[in-house]
Amino acid sequence: MPVSGHGPYDPQNIFARILRGEIPCQPVFENEVALAFHDIAPQAPVHVLVIPKGAYVSFADFSAEAPAETVAAFFRAVGEVAKALGLEAAGYRILANMGPHSGQEVPHFHVHILAGRPLGARLVAGG
Ligand code: 5GP
Repeated sequence: MPVSGHGPYDPQNIFARILRGEIPCQPVFENEVALAFHDIAPQAPVHVLVIPKGAYVSFADFSAEAPAETVAAFFRAVGEVAKALGLEAAGYRILANMGPHSGQEVPHFHVHILAGRPLGARLVAGG
C-alpha cells in the first residue's frame, strides 16, 4: 500500500526497525549517516537500498529538512556504495519513490541502486 511522502515519521516502519537492529538485513555499507543493504525482493541482479540514519519520511522530507552536510554525506554514501560494489564500469540506476503515485511503500527515505544487467530505457512501469 503506497504511503504518503509527508506527515509524521512512523518509528515502527520497517527501515527504522532495521536501523535499530530489531529486524535483520544484509548490510553492504554503513557510516555515520547512512546504511546500505540488499533489497529483500530484488528487481535486478544487484538491488541495494541506501537509507539515512535520521528519521525522514521521504525524499521530500529529507531534501527539505535534513542539514546540508547530511544531504551531501548521504548522496556521497550512495556513490561510495555503488563504487564499492564495482558498479561504475557497467553502470547503474538510482531511484527514489516519493508519495502515493510513485508507489513508495516504506515511509523512511531510501535510494534504490539497481544494476547487474541492462535496465532498459523505460523509467516508468506502464508509462
Ligand atoms: P519503495 O517501494 O518504498 O520505494 O521500496 C521499498 C523497498 O523495500 C522494496 O523494494 C522492498 O522490496 C524493500 N523491502 C521491504 N521490506 C523489506 C525488508 O524487510 N528488508 C529489506 N531488505 N527490504 C525490504
